Amino acid sequence: MKTMGAIRILPASKVAETVCGLVIDAVCRLPDDVLFALHAAKDIETGAAHAVLAQIIENEALARAARRPCCQDTGLAVVFIDIGQDVHVDGSLIDAVNLGVAEAYRKAYLRKSVLSAIARENTGDNTPAILHMRMVPGDRVSIHVTPKGFGSENMSRLFMLKPAEGEDGILESITQTARLGAANACPPVILGVGVGGTMEGAAILAKRQLLRACGSKASTPTLRRLEKEALRRVNALGIGPMGFGGRTTALAVLIGEMPTHLAGLPVAVNVQCHCARHAGAVI
Ligand code: SF4
Repeated sequence: MKTMGAIRILPASKVAETVCGLVIDAVCRLPDDVLFALHAAKDIETGAAHAVLAQIIENEALARAARRPCCQDTGLAVVFIDIGQDVHVDGSLIDAVNLGVAEAYRKAYLRKSVLSAIARENTGDNTPAILHMRMVPGDRVSIHVTPKGFGSENMSRLFMLKPAEGEDGILESITQTARLGAANACPPVILGVGVGGTMEGAAILAKRQLLRACGSKASTPTLRRLEKEALRRVNALGIGPMGFGGRTTALAVLIGEMPTHLAGLPVAVNVQCHCARHAGAVI
C-alpha cells in the first residue's frame, strides 16, 4: 500500500472569514486593471462620454475611501474555488462559503438581492452563493469572489452555433449581444466569452473569463486575434459610456476556448457592467 503524504487541515471558519472579507473588499472598490481601462477610455473620449467616465471614476474613489459599495446593486455572489487535493476542509465548505457571504452582506449593510426564483421571496441574507469548484494539485485553497449585478447579467446570451458558422459566427454572436444589450448593462461593459464545451460548459467558461484582468493576453494567437476584432466591432457600435454615445462601448472582450463535440459550436457571452468587481485570496 502506498503511504500518503501529510494532508493539511483547514478550518471551515477560515474559509468563511476569507469569503466575508473578499465580498466586502470586492464591492467597495474596483480592481486596478478596470480602473486603468476606465482612465484610458476617459482619455480618448470627449463630451458626455468623457463626463460619464469621469463620474464613474470619481464614484469609485469616493466608495473606496468611505468603504461603501460602488453600486447599489451589490449583486449575487459568485464564488470560484480551486481546492488543493492535499487539503481537508474541516467542516462543510459549502456552508462556510454561504456563511461568509451572509456575514459580509449583514456586516457591510449590502443590499440583499437574492430571492426564490418563482415565489420571489427574499432569502434574507443574499445566499445561496453560486459556487464553482475545481480540484487542483497542492494543499492550498484559492478563492475568487465576483458579486454579479443583474443589469448586466440579464443581457448575457448563449448561442448554440452550427460548426460551419466558425469564427464569423463567434464574432457575430459577441457583436449581436452587445448591440442588443450593452446599453442596458451600464456600459462600458466587459464581455466574457466561452467558446466550446457544452451549453453549461461554455457559460461557466464565459464567467471565468471575467476573472481575467482587462488587457490580459488570451492563451493562443487565435483567441488574441478574435478578442481584438470583437472589441473593434463592439466599439464601432457607438453605444458608448452609459449609452450616451462614444468610442468605448466595451473595455475588453475576453475569450476562452475548450474542446467541444464535432456537431456543435457553443458560444456564451457573459456581459459585465463597468462595475466589474472581483477579489481573490489563497489560503
Ligand atoms: S449593471 Fe452594474 S453598474 Fe449597473 S446597476 Fe447593475 S451592478 Fe450597478
